[in-house]
Amino acid sequence: MNVTVLGCWGGFPKADEASSGYLIEQDGFHLLVDCGSAVLSKLQNHLKPADLDAIILSHYHADHVADIGVLQHALLIDSFTGKTRETPLLIYGHNEADGFEALTYKNITKGIAYDSNTVMQVGPFSISFCKTDHPAPCYAIRITDGSDIVVYTADTAFKKELTAFAKNADVLLAESNLYKGMDGSSAGHMTAEQAGIMAREAGVKTLVLTHLPHFGELEQLVQEASAEFEGTILLAKENLEIGL
Ligand code: ZN
Repeated sequence: MNVTVLGCWGGFPKADEASSGYLIEQDGFHLLVDCGSAVLSKLQNHLKPADLDAIILSHYHADHVADIGVLQHALLIDSFTGKTRETPLLIYGHNEADGFEALTYKNITKGIAYDSNTVMQVGPFSISFCKTDHPAPCYAIRITDGSDIVVYTADTAFKKELTAFAKNADVLLAESNLYKGMDGSSAGHMTAEQAGIMAREAGVKTLVLTHLPHFGELEQLVQEASAEFEGTILLAKENLEIGL
């Protein structure tokens, strides 16, 4: 499995960068996880939108889905120039909030509601879900090809169930939108310290701090997480690539 960060900013993208978007690849299958603002632009540094095999969305906040509309336009324009897909691009999302309907567009993309209680097969991946603590319905996503495991917390306050959900992950993409001492319980976000605690208790190999804040010194996030977790800690950045 290969994990590539396309965008890592919480709330909105920093200049010339993108908000949430991660490319997960295996055996030539390209899965995009979340599609925030500027993710379509950054994706094209790696592959054409038409080469995506599936998209999965954690929730419908704009910093996670803003580029779905322009992605649909890109595929539509492809169809004008004879590069029509044989089947619509499948976009998996929950149907617990406004946003799901927009995933289906002409015969270009098709929204598929995932059932959070069921393990779903998408290409080479088995995908499972855990509801997070966030103001909008949101799901953490666990992706495995049968040997390697990648877990993405999506947006969430610290929640015990997520630690069990992330058990033994090779890579934990953990949101760290806040610094130690801040209270993210009502905003539905974690501190870097909490991401470190989650990584330690889940026994993960590599912790990637992501959904980054636009304030403070980001290296401080790594220090705060490393006080709790002795494994590898990486600060997400555009084009960070982890091969498993
Ligand atoms: Zn959110």
